[in-house]
Amino acid sequence: MSRIAYVNGAYVPHDMAFVHIDDRGYQFADGVYEVVSVIGGKMIDEEPHLDRLWRSMGELRMTEPVTRSALKLISKQLVQKNRLKNALLYIQVSRGVAKRDHAFPQGDLRSSLVMTCRRFDFGAVRERAKTGIKVSSQPDIRWGRCDIKATALLPNVLAKQAAKEAGAFEAILVDADGNVTEGSSTSVWMVDKNGTLVTRPLKDNILPGITRATLIELAEKHQIRIEERAFSIEEAKASEEMFLTSATSCAMPIVELDGSAISNGKPGSVATKLVELYWDFAGK
Ligand code: PLP
Repeated sequence: MSRIAYVNGAYVPHDMAFVHIDDRGYQFADGVYEVVSVIGGKMIDEEPHLDRLWRSMGELRMTEPVTRSALKLISKQLVQKNRLKNALLYIQVSRGVAKRDHAFPQGDLRSSLVMTCRRFDFGAVRERAKTGIKVSSQPDIRWGRCDIKATALLPNVLAKQAAKEAGAFEAILVDADGNVTEGSSTSVWMVDKNGTLVTRPLKDNILPGITRATLIELAEKHQIRIEERAFSIEEAKASEEMFLTSATSCAMPIVELDGSAISNGKPGSVATKLVELYWDFAGK
């Protein structure tokens, strides 16, 4: 069965799915997106993902391509048409098609909506969490509005590639003060000497991760202390545990940073507990 995509009002075979060359998403990365995980047929955290999409569009003054309820319907139909139970749903909205000019086009421009859905092996993610992953620190050279989930991801791409070439699974971004911001496509956490979970507070320098918010709720429910504060890459290296979160990595222990083991180089007990709590939540 061929994959089906959704492009501006039509369901089309994936290899026939095209956007116009004058689309501002293509020319200026003038677009926003979301990635929603579908686990066992259930869309995980769909509402908060849509809240964030609408916020991103609002911050960039884009017109909504369809209503929120229509988007939910398309999401559901796309998963069904692709006959998927475990998948990643990709939603992208760009400002639309217009003559190339940096400033916003005049008048009402119809935004473009592209959605795809692909099979994703969450079993492999869960398996990977048993051994944990290696990460590599990279300078955070992104713009000043990382709170917007924009398609302009070139600095993230370069950081991830550098991490990959260093034999790591993810890049941990470090700001000019030597503090960890987040991963190239993940939120980053550590556990300090007192067993407190630490993650960077939400400002315009990081994305408000949906999995991050879910994990905070789960941790609070289970009396795990959390502190939202900046922490340096050196503090992270000397921490008891590290892990990351995202829709695709769920909760994932980190066992090595820049070639140095975190604690004993095995997933820590707090991270392991949170991985379990996350899977209980996702599996319900
Ligand atoms: N930070 C960045 C820069 C991201 O791109 C992502 C996800 O793509 C995340 C954090 C994690 O966000 P979420 O948990 O909503 O997937």
